[in-house]
Amino acid sequence: MSLDCVSCGACCAYSESWPVFIGDGDGEGIPDELIDLEHERMQSHGNRCTALVGQIGIRAYCCVYACRPLVCREFQAGSDDCIMVRRFFDLPAA
Ligand code: SF4
Ligand code: SF4
Repeated sequence: MSLDCVSCGACCAYSESWPVFIGDGDGEGIPDELIDLEHERMQSHGNRCTALVGQIGIRAYCCVYACRPLVCREFQAGSDDCIMVRRFFDLPAA
């Protein structure tokens, strides 16, 4: 089964402490209001990253996609972590 991130967004709404910035320059270009400067990560509402737009499991996208943090770039659709968060949101995972 192929997993379509555009109709998902689950990994962007799973933890208030994710995504964090890693190293100098990570997150460069992201507007300050979307950043938690104190904790060096994206700002969140509850567990949901403030850059996530749309409805989880229906249609969702990242409004800072071009400059999203490194951990977001490396998060792989179909990985164990992806499957875990999809299951958390009751989305098909297998
Ligand atoms: S949880 Fe997986 S399928 Fe959903 S948006 Fe993240 S990487 Fe894509
Ligand atoms: S920065 Fe974008 S890709 Fe990363 S968690 Fe937030 S909405 Fe998702």
